[in-house]
Amino acid sequence: MQASQLWFEPSEDERALLGAVEAFLKDRVIPTAAERDRDGVFPEALVRELAELGVFGLMVPEAYGGLGLPAVTAMRIVEAIGYADGALGLTVASHNSLATGHVLLAGDEAQKERFLPKLASGEWLGAWALTEPHAGSDAAALKTRAESADGGFRLFGSKQFITQGSVAGAYVVMARTDPPPEGKRHQGISAFVFERPQEGQGFAVGRKEEKLGLRASDTAQLLFDGLFVPEEALLGERGRAFYDVLRVLDGGRVGIAALSVGIGQAALDLAARYATERTAFGRPIAAFEGVSFKLADMATELEAARLLYLKAAALKDAGRPYTLAAAQAKLFASEAATRAADAAIQILGGYGYTLDYPAQRYWRDVRLMEIGEGTSEILRLVIAREVLKEVAR
Ligand SMILES: Cc1cc2nc3c(=O)[nH]c(=O)nc-3n(C[C@H](O)[C@H](O)[C@H](O)COP(=O)(O)OP(=O)(O)OC[C@H]3O[C@@H](n4cnc5c(N)ncnc54)[C@H](O)[C@@H]3O)c2cc1C
Repeated sequence: MQASQLWFEPSEDERALLGAVEAFLKDRVIPTAAERDRDGVFPEALVRELAELGVFGLMVPEAYGGLGLPAVTAMRIVEAIGYADGALGLTVASHNSLATGHVLLAGDEAQKERFLPKLASGEWLGAWALTEPHAGSDAAALKTRAESADGGFRLFGSKQFITQGSVAGAYVVMARTDPPPEGKRHQGISAFVFERPQEGQGFAVGRKEEKLGLRASDTAQLLFDGLFVPEEALLGERGRAFYDVLRVLDGGRVGIAALSVGIGQAALDLAARYATERTAFGRPIAAFEGVSFKLADMATELEAARLLYLKAAALKDAGRPYTLAAAQAKLFASEAATRAADAAIQILGGYGYTLDYPAQRYWRDVRLMEIGEGTSEILRLVIAREVLKEVAR
């Protein structure tokens, strides 16, 4: 770090990398984001172009074909992509943190060699399947089961709301392999990683969701009816995947916090620009405190959210516990960004309510951030638990 560079500021190398990503986003992503939102189609060609920048292997070591970035830098890039297009931001964030993150965390050498280079290059997008139709926040209630079969397992059950569900090249799926010991529902769950199976061999993509926002990101149901996965697909220790899931989600939450800040910042920039151009009562509306104070609150909360995600990412990079920091970052950033998008609509007045301006898209896109990878309510439970642990020490 140079003497003049403070811990929360990007280094020169980070600036150069961010500059290249931002140039691409400005040129190829921002101008067409509204169109993708309207059409609600997953942008395969654009994703392939984006992959050339290496953003599908942000934290994958260079030995496996990734950029090998620290989480702090990776999260800044997620923020930049979220700023340009929330749907693309979710694609990149979930691919990196969830499926790829789980292989990085728990994969053996053969799994890393087989999956990471293709995930890092974007040749395969990763889908990570925990949620089920009747088990979301209460993930340990999952019912998908993996029955032992000759040389491997057969999967039965269904997964709900899976990002990249219909477009992935590699899947990480959580399923119950063993009955839980009395009172220990988290045990007996295992993770499996495998290439996209042929449809019809015990695997099918079910319903693709029509969503309020993030409409160009792919969200689908997965259906398993006896899909065979070999022994080598077992990711991490049999029956103990839930503990890895919690760690994967810690990383994912930092990503969702960064993505929230990106979308919130886009809403702030739009609103600030508009407020200097729009006049009422003979003055730009920015001259009214009723408007400028909203901008002040948006800017302050988003900066606080940015520092929280950087803190969580820095703890992760240092190999220190960051469950609490990740939960706080996601909780605060998602709620602050939702408030920012809402305020942007208000500042744009009637125009904010039309499809002519992206304020409404930011608001629709950012709303997911309070739900996915731990709802705000679940995060408050996580944070309260950590706070109370401190008191009990
Ligand atoms: C666009 C999108 C993408 C997603 N991508 C993925 C993915 O890639 N992989 C994946 O596995 N999942 C994914 N999900 C699922 C997501 O993580 C879940 O929707 C989320 O965890 C909430 O689960 P649920 O929808 O079943 O809600 P529920 O768990 O049914 O919760 C409903 C409400 O009850 C509240 N609630 C539940 N329990 C408590 C409690 N103990 N205390 C207080 N309040 C509580 C919740 O906070 C919520 O407000 C995605 C969802 C969406 C919408």
